[in-house]
Amino acid sequence: MLPVIEKLLILQARDKQRRELESQLLAAPREIASVEAKIATEKSAIETAKAELLDLETKKKLLETEIQAAEQKCAKYRSQQLEVRKNDEYRALGAEIETTQAEIGKLEEQELSVMYAIDEAKKKFSAAEAVMKGNIKGYEARINALREREVNLRTELAAAKADCEQARGPVGEPALRLYDRICLHRFPACVPVHAGKCGGCHLKISSEVESASRGKTGEIATCDQCGRIVWWEA
Ligand SMILES: [Zn+2]
Repeated sequence: MLPVIEKLLILQARDKQRRELESQLLAAPREIASVEAKIATEKSAIETAKAELLDLETKKKLLETEIQAAEQKCAKYRSQQLEVRKNDEYRALGAEIETTQAEIGKLEEQELSVMYAIDEAKKKFSAAEAVMKGNIKGYEARINALREREVNLRTELAAAKADCEQARGPVGEPALRLYDRICLHRFPACVPVHAGKCGGCHLKISSEVESASRGKTGEIATCDQCGRIVWWEA
């Protein structure tokens, strides 16, 4: 193996590390955003459940007001009955009282079913709220861990970049230029030859490239097909 290939392989290993860290860092904000979206969903579910409960309570208050108004109407009819002299007027008021009382009965039935619904909603809400709050706590812990990881990744990336710089030094200008050019489109840029095939594109290489890959020409060999630097793996 040419000495320059050895140096390139060291650089490539460090570049691989650097690239992995970069892609993890790139993904970090997206991961955080997706967990934040989950928190928002849980919170809006809590708000919806709260709104439903509030809605039922408003309904109950309205029914109470209606019942009160109907009872006042009945009381008024009863006091009017005491004042009328004619029988048919008395009977008419009696009929009004009956109708109103039937209305009150219906309203009270509705009120009961609303009260029952409120009880159910409260039970469901407090159970769901506990679960959702637990979920939110879990998600928040996950976000903290992700943020911490992001900070660590930045530190690791800075170190990896320094390692790459250090590994570039001994390679030499022409080899570096070739390596960098390949890396723009293909990674890894240096691949071994196996059974006469390029380890990158897996196509057969020519006999000239093969002999160069064995270090026989003293020049860096590149694959006929994909242009990667190829080296003979003994
Ligand atoms: Zn190739």
